Amino acid sequence: MEEEALKNHKKAMEISDTVMKTVREMAVINTRAFDLAEKIEEKIKEMGGFPAFPVNISINEIAAHYTPELNDGLVLKEGNLVKIDAGVQVDGYINDAAFTVCIGKNTHPLVEASESALNEALKIMKVGSQVWEISEVVENTLVEKGFRPVRNLCGHGLERFNQHGHPSIPNGKNKSKEVLEEGHAYAMEVFVTDGEGLVKDSSPTMIYKFVQDRPVRMPEARKVLDMAKKDYFMLPFAKRWVAKKISPIKLDFALRQLEEIEAIESFPVLKEVSGGLVAQTEQTVLL
Ligand code: MN
Ligand code: MN
Repeated sequence: MEEEALKNHKKAMEISDTVMKTVREMAVINTRAFDLAEKIEEKIKEMGGFPAFPVNISINEIAAHYTPELNDGLVLKEGNLVKIDAGVQVDGYINDAAFTVCIGKNTHPLVEASESALNEALKIMKVGSQVWEISEVVENTLVEKGFRPVRNLCGHGLERFNQHGHPSIPNGKNKSKEVLEEGHAYAMEVFVTDGEGLVKDSSPTMIYKFVQDRPVRMPEARKVLDMAKKDYFMLPFAKRWVAKKISPIKLDFALRQLEEIEAIESFPVLKEVSGGLVAQTEQTVLL
């Protein structure tokens, strides 16, 4: 890996490790998801990074893409299976990491399963490993523990200013002969469920991302698009972030308009199709 890339990746990782450690202690009964997300994002900036995407705080059958809205009343309750997924970027070099806690409990079988499957995967993630081998280890470890992988969620390569780079590393068995390469960064993540093992788009939508510049007349829409491009580096952003600058009714209209003309894309909340509980563990690896 080039020196500059390595330096920035390492800094992003350091910030992520520190922030995640603090967050673990904050994720207790009655914590507001909003406070948690804001705290994480603030701390990332304080330490010299920038959120690579809005902090995801997804509970129980919601696998991903829930990030609190402004004034979100969601509170962590005892027994909730809470996935906290945070990205840190330093000059575009991204660290992507996530963990799951069962609120008020020391652990949970799904959390243990996702952690141990990730560990098994990390053991074989070396220069030259093939994607199918990694996915096989993940699925076998989860099945041994009596659960299923979420088959349509994947680990992924990390590219500069591109969180979902090449290749995809699916949680379920596959035949991909793609190879891990030296000098690259990979976000390995395991999603496990006691349900069917698939997620689907659901509602609400709280995360968006810049796609392309387009002519827009509505001033609020123009403002959102400019922020998406410049302030958020064309990386995913939260409705909560822009809601601090634009009134709610106008914001909904602006987001809808921008999506219609394909200037932005949206990432709705992902739910397990059968309502199964989902745990996630993720870590970034530099080869
Ligand atoms: Mn992640
Ligand atoms: Mn990821």
